Amino acid sequence: MGSLLVTGGAGYVGSHAVRQLQCKGEKIVVLDDLSEGHRQATAGVDLVVADLADTTRIGSVLDELFQKETFDVVLHFAGRAYVGESVRDPERYYRINVGGGIELLSAMARNGVPRIIFSSTCATYGEPDTVPILEDHPQRPLSAYGRTKLAFELALKDFEIAHGIRHINFRYFNAAGAHPDGTLGEDHRPETHLIPLVCDAALGLRPAVDIFGTDYPTPDGTCIRDYIHVVDLADAHILGVEALRSGASSTSYNLGMGHGYSVLEVVESVKRVSGRDVTARHTPRRPGDPPSLVASSQKASDELGWKPSFKDLDDIVKTAWQFKQSYPQGYSKT
Ligand code: UDP
Repeated sequence: MGSLLVTGGAGYVGSHAVRQLQCKGEKIVVLDDLSEGHRQATAGVDLVVADLADTTRIGSVLDELFQKETFDVVLHFAGRAYVGESVRDPERYYRINVGGGIELLSAMARNGVPRIIFSSTCATYGEPDTVPILEDHPQRPLSAYGRTKLAFELALKDFEIAHGIRHINFRYFNAAGAHPDGTLGEDHRPETHLIPLVCDAALGLRPAVDIFGTDYPTPDGTCIRDYIHVVDLADAHILGVEALRSGASSTSYNLGMGHGYSVLEVVESVKRVSGRDVTARHTPRRPGDPPSLVASSQKASDELGWKPSFKDLDDIVKTAWQFKQSYPQGYSKT
């Protein structure tokens, strides 16, 4: 058994995966450029600060890492994940999410690193024909973000054909919540995600939360998303590593709860959990938001034995609220 290289391990989902993998006794090295990630979230873990998209340097950084130590699986979380930003600045998304990923795969091929787990997304599906969404649903992404994630899924197929690198694509639905021990959580700058924004409003850090669209074809008119606790997501990666090490074939898995909540239901949950009021402002739709995204994760459950433990939205929100109360301004900047 070799070590694990975790790209983006200082970020939100990556840092939770590192924590869970560490608890299993894995030897881990994190590679992160700290553009989005936080040094504080990697406390006690070997951290290499490098940018995968820095083509002048990254090849030699990865070669040195792979030659110094035996890595048998790479977990690739690094990348940008803001839909709106990707529409405004697609070049950045192709350079980082595709170009940076290719630098990684090329270095893996050069150095004989045989397996990779990729953080993909439900945004690769676009507007679904049917919900819950199964893995073989057509992938028709609506944004540059979704297209760059799909492009890298396709690259993984070709690197398997040419170099035998086996992969798992985990297609995340809406990652939410924070580590129950209170030391890790969600800190995006600027924050765009619903649950931390509603928590900020409950804490009085912002005057209100905007509800993006109330005229969707859903029961209360607001968008429905499948919120999955970040520790449950992280735990799926442990199972993914085990599966690849045992010889599993390359494949894709949805990771969600199979149950959706509307934006207004999320606001109500934060009010219940925090015991505070939240002002909700109705605003127009955000471009590119499908009305409803709900996963079928049956395949992950059947094949990997994945069983999420945070089943209720309030339980997920409780951990997000706890983190917000401890770190109202997020991690320290150092
Ligand atoms: N949303 C909202 N107000 C906000 C942020 C998000 O109404 O300030 C909605 C958004 O339109 C979507 C849902 O909340 O339907 C979840 O959005 P988020 O950005 O958290 O995740 P995404 O679904 O974009 O990955």
